[in-house]
Amino acid sequence: MSESNTKNQLVDRFGRTVNYIRLSVTDRCDLRCVYCMPEKMKFVPRTQLLTLEEIESIARSFIGLGVDKIRITGGEPLVRKNILQLFNNLGEIEALRDLTLTTNGTQLKKFARPLKDAGVTRINVSLDTLRADRFHDMTRIGDLQQTLDGLDTAIACDFDQIKLNSVVMKNHNHDEMHDLVKFCIDRGIDISFIEEMPLGDNDHHDRAATYCSSDEILADLEQHYEIIPTTMKTAGPTRYYRLAEHDNTRVGFISPHSHNFCDSCNRVRLTAEGRLLLCLGQEHSMDLRRVVRSNPGDKQALENAIIDSMQLKPKGHEFDLNSQTVLLRHMNLTGG
Ligand code: SAM
Ligand code: SF4
Repeated sequence: MSESNTKNQLVDRFGRTVNYIRLSVTDRCDLRCVYCMPEKMKFVPRTQLLTLEEIESIARSFIGLGVDKIRITGGEPLVRKNILQLFNNLGEIEALRDLTLTTNGTQLKKFARPLKDAGVTRINVSLDTLRADRFHDMTRIGDLQQTLDGLDTAIACDFDQIKLNSVVMKNHNHDEMHDLVKFCIDRGIDISFIEEMPLGDNDHHDRAATYCSSDEILADLEQHYEIIPTTMKTAGPTRYYRLAEHDNTRVGFISPHSHNFCDSCNRVRLTAEGRLLLCLGQEHSMDLRRVVRSNPGDKQALENAIIDSMQLKPKGHEFDLNSQTVLLRHMNLTGG
C-alpha cells in the first residue's frame, strides 16, 4: 500500500479514528525526572529495543493506513545514536503532515537546526521550573542552563510551534506557574501544564499529595491574566486558552484526572521495545516487534497487525492516584 493513501483505515470499536502515533525511540535519558522514572532506572537491554530501521518501517505502515501525525518521544529521543537519520527519512514522506518532537531540550543546541531542516514542524520542550536548584532536584541530575540554551536555539530556528511542557507538583513547582507563563510570553512560545499521571512505581513522592489540578493552576493564573478559552486543537489532548493582550502565547492544560479526554482520543503509542499501546493508561497492546522480526520485509503482515490492533483499543484510561495498583510501565518507556 502506498504512503499517499488518504483513506484512513484505523477506526476503533468506538468509532474513533486514529491518525496520530507517538513513537518512543529509546527508554534511555540523560535526566531522571522524579515523576517519570526512579533514580536507579533499569533500562531495557539494547537487543530488545527496536532498531531505527524497524521504527521507520512501522511508521511507514501507519502512514500508509492513514496516520498523518507523528511525535517522536522517549526517553530522551535526542540521545539515541543516529536519530537524525530517522527524522530525515520521515521528513521526506509527503503524506506525513506533522512531524513533531518531545524533548527535554538538553541536546537542542546541537540538534535544533538539523531537525528543522529535516522537516520537524513543532517541538515540545519539557521544563518544569526556572530555578536551577529546583531543576536539579526535579530532574535529579539536570543543569537548567543547558536546557535553556537548547530552547533558545530552537526558538531561533522558527518552528511552527515551540511549547513548554510543565508537570505541576505541589511543594515542588506549583508556585511558579505565573513565572513560567511570563517566561513564555517574553519568548512568544506556548506552554502546557500537565497533571502527573500514575505510571510506574514511585518511591520519591506521594502522587496524591503532590497532585495539583489544572483548575487550581487556571485559578492562580486568572489572578494575573485575562484568560480566554479557545477551540484550538493540535493533535493531542491539550485544552488551550488565549491570553488577552499576549497573542503569541497560548496556555494549555493536559488534565487526565480532572478533564478526561478519552472520548476524542485519536492516538496510539509505540514503546521503545515495539509494543503498540492502544491507550496510555491501560495495558492493551500488540507486539509489533514480534510481527516485524518474524515476517521480515512483509509489509502486509505488519499492516494487518496494525489494523487488527484497533479492536483492542479500550474506551479510556482509569487513572486513580489513590490506588495501590499502578501501571508498572514508566513514562520513559511508554513515550509521553
Ligand atoms: N524526554 C523527553 C521530555 O522529557 O520531554 C520526552 C519523553 S517524556 C516521557 C515526555 C513527557 O512526559 C514530558 O513532557 C514529561 O514531562 C512527561 N511526563 C513524564 N512522566 C510523567 C508523568 N508521570 N505524568 C505526566 N507527565 C509525565
Ligand atoms: Fe527523561 Fe523526559 Fe523522563 Fe525527564 S520526563 S526523565 S527528561 S524521559
